[in-house]
Amino acid sequence: MTAITPASGEHICSRCARQGTTCCQGSQVFLTLGDVDRITALGAGQFTTYAAPNQDYYIPDCDPWWGRIFHPDGTRRIIVKQEDSNFCLFLGETGCRLGIESRPLVCRLYPFEYDHNCIKGVTAHLCPSPERDNPPLILALLNMNRDQAENWRSQLYREIQAEFS
Ligand code: SF4
Ligand code: SF4
Repeated sequence: MTAITPASGEHICSRCARQGTTCCQGSQVFLTLGDVDRITALGAGQFTTYAAPNQDYYIPDCDPWWGRIFHPDGTRRIIVKQEDSNFCLFLGETGCRLGIESRPLVCRLYPFEYDHNCIKGVTAHLCPSPERDNPPLILALLNMNRDQAENWRSQLYREIQAEFS
């Protein structure tokens, strides 16, 4: 798929970052051990913490694996926020500072909806973009395709299952 840009010519995620409204604010990003290893390999300092879910959608009923990532105290491993803000530690002025191959798998998959079996669809509920209600357009703007997403989905569940089986 060829990347396209909004009419402004600016990448859609850069526009979100510039506007200060982005999926990388407020979200609790779960990290697999593979995510931790890939980011650590970049030389990152401390970037993990543990927290209980702040939204119901972090515990989907239809997917047994998301119930297993929690510790007995109800927390799970997520990315820390920047000091005094709800911005992800890795959010820069033009979007994520991590390259796609070191970005957490759940970030690579957004805004696809998925479970342990398959990719289900596209729901950009965190996305403030005017294109959010047009799935083919937003996938094109994000340069995402279903086959690549399916590979990442499989990798995500392999890494979850390796740690939590
Ligand atoms: S790791 Fe990157 S894509 Fe994921 S929430 Fe943080 S800034 Fe956004
Ligand atoms: S995925 Fe959507 S909400 Fe997140 S930065 Fe990109 S356009 Fe904005």
